[in-house]
Amino acid sequence: MSNTATNQDTSQNTERETLGFQAEVKQLLHLMVHSLYSNREIFLRELISNASDACDKLRFEALHNASLFENDADLAIRISYDQAARTLTISDNGIGMNRDEVISNLGTIAKSGTREFFTRLSGDQQKDANLIGQFGVGFYSAFIVADKVTVLSRRAGEKADQGVSWESDGGGEFIIEMVEKTSRGTSITLHLREGQDDLLSGHKIRSIIRKYSDHIVQPILMKKEEWKEDAQVVLDEDETVNQAFALWARPKSEITDEEYKAFYKHVGHDFTDPLAWTHARVEGRQEYTQLLYIPSRAPFDLWERDAIHGIKLYVRRVFIMDDAEQLMPHYLRFVRGVVDSNDLPLNVSREILQESKDIEAIRAGCTKKVLALLEELASNEPEKYSKFWGEFGRALKEGVGEDSANKEKIAGLLRLASTHADTSDETVTLADYVARMKEGQEKIYYITADTFNAAKNSPHLEVFRKKGIEVLLLADRIDEWVVSNLPAFQDKSLVSVAKGGLDLGQLEDEAEKKDHEKEADEFKSLTDKLKASLADKVKEVRVTHRLTDSPACLVADEHDMNANLARLLKASGQKMPTSKPILEINPRHPVVLRLQTEEKKFDDWTSVLFDQALLAEGGQLDDPASFVKRINQLMLEISR
Ligand code: ADP
Repeated sequence: MSNTATNQDTSQNTERETLGFQAEVKQLLHLMVHSLYSNREIFLRELISNASDACDKLRFEALHNASLFENDADLAIRISYDQAARTLTISDNGIGMNRDEVISNLGTIAKSGTREFFTRLSGDQQKDANLIGQFGVGFYSAFIVADKVTVLSRRAGEKADQGVSWESDGGGEFIIEMVEKTSRGTSITLHLREGQDDLLSGHKIRSIIRKYSDHIVQPILMKKEEWKEDAQVVLDEDETVNQAFALWARPKSEITDEEYKAFYKHVGHDFTDPLAWTHARVEGRQEYTQLLYIPSRAPFDLWERDAIHGIKLYVRRVFIMDDAEQLMPHYLRFVRGVVDSNDLPLNVSREILQESKDIEAIRAGCTKKVLALLEELASNEPEKYSKFWGEFGRALKEGVGEDSANKEKIAGLLRLASTHADTSDETVTLADYVARMKEGQEKIYYITADTFNAAKNSPHLEVFRKKGIEVLLLADRIDEWVVSNLPAFQDKSLVSVAKGGLDLGQLEDEAEKKDHEKEADEFKSLTDKLKASLADKVKEVRVTHRLTDSPACLVADEHDMNANLARLLKASGQKMPTSKPILEINPRHPVVLRLQTEEKKFDDWTSVLFDQALLAEGGQLDDPASFVKRINQLMLEISR
C-alpha cells in the first residue's frame, strides 16, 4: 500500500507541514462526496461514533493509569454550531491523538485489502455507492457536507503544547501543525459547503442525533436553546440530547427496532440495516449479555486472511476491546455486536482471552445463539435466509470442518444445488434431500466439480438421471472440504458419484446385477486390451453401468483423492502424490462396441476415449495438440 502520508519521519517535526493523502483516501473522498450525498446526515453519526469510541478507549486506558483523566472523568461529547461562521463542531474529551496518530489515522486507510477493494470500483456511481457500504465510511464522511475540515486533538496525558491541528479541503492534501490545546481529546470543526445551512439549527442537529446516535453511551451535550421574541436564543447551559445509556443493558421489551438498527450501525461500522439480531442476557456459570447482529451484506474484507474481525467486549459496561475474535469462531467472523460480561476481570487482555475457559464458555454460548438465529430465519423467513446465504454461505460452510460440536446443525443450514432443481440459484437442504430419497436409497449422492455446469452435465450422473435419483451438485471450491468433513447427515452417508465402484444398493434389482456381471465377462478381453494400451495413464479399466449416453468416464479409486480435489490442491501449489484414475466404459455404447473389432487404429481410439473422459469431468489434457490431431483424423476418415 502506498503510504504517502506516513512515509516521512515526522516524529520530531513541529512545523506547519503539508502532506499528501494516501491514494486510496483520495479515491474514498471523491467517491463519498459524490455518491453519498443523498445520505448526507450520516456524517454526524460517524463523527459521534468515533468520539464515543475515543471516550471508551480513554476509560479503558485509565483503568491502568488514572492520571489520564486529568481530573476530568466525566466523559462527554459536545456539539455546537456557529451560524455566522457557518461551522459545526463535534468535540470529545476522549483519548485524543498525537501527531503521528493524526497523520496515519486521518491520512491513510490501514485496513488490509483496501487497495484491492478500490480496484473493484467501476466509476458507475450507483454501483460504487453500493460498494462503499461494505467498506464503512468513518471520519472522511465529514466531507460530504464540509468543504474544509479542521481537527484539533491532544492525546490524554500529554502536555498542553502537544496539541495537533489538522486541516484539509478534501483535495489531495492536508496541513498539520503542533498547537497549544489545554483540554484533552478531539474537536472536529466542519466548514459547511454551500447549501448546507439547514444544518446550522439546534432543532435539526438534535433530530439527527436522536435518529442516529440516541444509543451512544456517553452524553451528547448541546447548549440549551429558547425561543425569545421569534428568535432562537442559545443559553449558556448544557443539556443531554440522547438517552446516554448502554442499549444492550436495557430490557428487550423497551427497545424499538429502530434503536437496534441504529446501534448496529455504530458497532458494525456499516450504514445499511442489519439482516437480523439476537439479544439475550445469559445467566449461569458465566453471566453476560449478548447483542449479536448479522449484517445484510458481506464486508469487503470477509475473505482477507489478515483482516480483523470480531465483536466488542465490555466488562460491566466498561469497554475493553474491539474485534475480540475469541468471542466468535472464525466461520462466524461476519457477526457484529457486543458481549458484556459480568464476571471477567477488568484487566482482561487478548492473551488472557486466548486461554480463558470462561471465554470458551461465552464463545460456545454466542455460537449457539447465532446458529439458533439462523435456524429461525431459515424456517420463518426463508427469503431473508437466502439473502444471508448469498452473502455468507461460503463462510458458514467452513463451520462444517471447524466446529465439530455444531457440525450437524451447520449441515442443516447448508443450501446446495442439486439435480432436483438443475439451476444454480435454486438450492435444496440436506433434510429436503433425505426426505425425498427413493425407496431403497441408503446414501446421499453428490458430485464435486469446478463449475456448476461441469457438475450438472457430468457423465457420472447419467445412471442417476435415468433412475430419478437426486444428486447434489457441488461446485464451490470449499465444497470439497465440506464433504470431506461431513461423512454423514442424519445417519445417511454422503457418497461421491465419481469415486469407487458404483454401489446403488437396493436401487438396483437382481436382474440388473446379473446383467452387469455378464457384461463384465463379455468385455474382459477388451478391458484387458485397453488396460495394456493405457497402462501409464490408468490404474484399471472396467465395465460400468454408470453411463447411458457417454462411452466412458473416469473415477477415482475408493481411497484415492478425487480428481476435482487433486486439481484444487495442485492449483493452490500443493505437492501431492498423483494417483491414476480408473477408466470405466459403457458396454452398450456404439463406440465401445465398435472398439471391440478395431485393430489398426486401436491405440488412437483408446487415447481419444481416455482424453474425452478426462475433458468431460473438467480435467486438463496432458497433450492437447495430439488429441486435436487424432480427432481431425477421425473426422476425415468418417467423411471419406
Ligand atoms: P474507523 O473509525 O472505521 O477506524 P475512521 O476513518 O472513522 O475509521 O477513523 C480512523 C481512526 O481515526 C479511528 O480508528 C481512530 O483511531 C481515529 N479517530 C477518529 N476520530 C477520533 C476521535 N474523535 N478521537 C480519537 N481518535 C479518533
